[in-house]
Amino acid sequence: MTKRVYNFSAGPATLPEEVLNKVQGELLDYKGHGMSVMEMSHRSEPIKSIVDETESLVKELLNISDKYKVLFMQGGASSQFYMIPQNILKPDQTASYILTGSFAKKAYEEAVKIGNIKVAADMKAEKYTRLPNENELDFDSNNAYIHLTTNNTIYGTQWGSMPETSGIPIAADMSSDIMSRPIDMTNIGIIYAGAQKNLGPAGVTLVVIRKDLMENVPESLPNMNRYDVIAEADSLFNTPPVFAIYVMKLVLEWIKNMGGLNKIHEINKEKANYIYEVIDESDGFYKGHAKKEDRSLMNVPFRLKDEDLEKRFLQEAEKNELVGLKGHRSVGGIRASIYNAMPVEGCKALAEFMKDFCQKNK
Ligand SMILES: *Cc1c(COP(=O)(O)O)cnc(C)c1O
Repeated sequence: MTKRVYNFSAGPATLPEEVLNKVQGELLDYKGHGMSVMEMSHRSEPIKSIVDETESLVKELLNISDKYKVLFMQGGASSQFYMIPQNILKPDQTASYILTGSFAKKAYEEAVKIGNIKVAADMKAEKYTRLPNENELDFDSNNAYIHLTTNNTIYGTQWGSMPETSGIPIAADMSSDIMSRPIDMTNIGIIYAGAQKNLGPAGVTLVVIRKDLMENVPESLPNMNRYDVIAEADSLFNTPPVFAIYVMKLVLEWIKNMGGLNKIHEINKEKANYIYEVIDESDGFYKGHAKKEDRSLMNVPFRLKDEDLEKRFLQEAEKNELVGLKGHRSVGGIRASIYNAMPVEGCKALAEFMKDFCQKNK
């Protein structure tokens, strides 16, 4: 019999069981073609339809207009750290970065290698426990864009809404909360996300970019790094990661069938609430890393009294088939990643386990 555990890994992360079953069912013979998606020419009709349909689903679910183009790229979110400034930052402009965690910092450090980069706010002194207020943000009138991370995977903070940027386009790393809630696109210039948290398997990176931002890509930039070239070829400039895109399509269909982003947002709030409630009612037995007002619905990092107790927590959780809970080395402790595909039952099971563990070890 197949055994499935509740997998709270931060990424690659759990996928919807329905999607995995569908993949299994279609693996050897995709829709009567007598071969798997992995074995087909990327110039073939079935693959072109998969890419087209995935693009349509992204636009439909995010509710975005034709002002934007959807791209499927490679190299992970980390490659976008340098591609964004390469493509859209002109030599006489600046870009400002809001430093709210490790990935924001990495994006900043890569961008510094490319162009004139400023810091809009740096939350490191407070151990990235909260996000900056609007009046703590220092933008520059010469900004080509403002970069931020919508959900800080390691520190467990998440922007409730986008900051006001006076029309300066936002470049948003949404790797760990894409498609988990509706987003206001008003000031969004570009969104990017590695697939392996909320969208599918590793290997494809989703990029959504406002078309006007692709109009002045420097001639010297190699083709594989150019948004305009990938856009012109509808993401089929070279061989894309076809299997990963195919699974992304199934994940997006799963979200759509569930009722779209408003519905999934409701479910995600409910899921996170089970766990935060136990933390808040534990009298300090569990200590959440993030400040309440900025807490993430996707990643819940928390500590216990000491490392021995944390170790025991992890061991006993694993015996209860709750796995992948070890915190990131920079925060330590425990981290529960509860992306879209984590079922409500998984969060309930973790909350029950936490209550029980607290009672026995208080
Ligand atoms: C995981 C993650 C990344 C890194 O993604 P890769 O696809 O491994 O490059 C970047 N940003 C955020 C917010 C992440 O959660």
